[in-house]
Amino acid sequence: MRIDIITLLPELLESPFSASILKRAIDNKIVDVVFHQLRDYSEDKHRRVDDTQFGGGAGMVMTVQPISKVIDHLKSQRTYGEIIYMSPDGTRFNQSIANTLSTCENIMILCGHYKGIDHRIRDEYITKEISIGDFVLSGGELPAAMVCDAIIRLLPGAMGDETSALTDSFQDDLLAPPVYTRPAEWRGHKVPEVLLSGHAKKIDDWRHDQAIKRTQDLRPDLLGLED
Ligand code: SAH
Repeated sequence: MRIDIITLLPELLESPFSASILKRAIDNKIVDVVFHQLRDYSEDKHRRVDDTQFGGGAGMVMTVQPISKVIDHLKSQRTYGEIIYMSPDGTRFNQSIANTLSTCENIMILCGHYKGIDHRIRDEYITKEISIGDFVLSGGELPAAMVCDAIIRLLPGAMGDETSALTDSFQDDLLAPPVYTRPAEWRGHKVPEVLLSGHAKKIDDWRHDQAIKRTQDLRPDLLGLED
């Protein structure tokens, strides 16, 4: 898989890709992540990428020229499964979107700044708009890094044990069951007996029951119940 990220602040994106599963996936060529500095595509002599809003009002808007230039350039090189704009008014990101995106061969992610991008870019190129929640951040880099993390950890070979991602929360619309490790007793709190039984079927059943119980208690909306 290849992910192209268009950004004004690539330095904000560096550390999430420099450690742990994401770094390993890049080192092992499971994914190629390429940052594109939007300013490099500006034809303005001061490399500007923003301008004041038509109609007036506070806040600058990212202009069409450099964005269209970088997107046209990338599109001329390969076909993209999705061209994503990170935006608070986009579809709320979730595991199901991460699962779908993880099957794409190439995706492009555009990070906004200031008041956002000229809307005509959204109309012309963007195939998916993703929000990470109902709050506003100052730029699209942190949201883009979150989306990339959620996608990359699903790619075959990215995690030590590929089945691990399948048992995480949301994969079956259930929250994950509780997990424990050694010691079996700590400050009088014992690990549930069944987990020490070595009985695979009983353990599976217990985990499933716990997942349903936790989901009912904490996120009934996932089960289609009122919250
Ligand atoms: N004026 C816009 C907010 C711009 S915030 C509005 O009111 O909708 C600047 C940039 O940060 C956005 O272009 C977007 O790329 C990014 N961003 C901010 N909050 C975000 C969120 N919740 N999800 C995804 N991207 C977000």
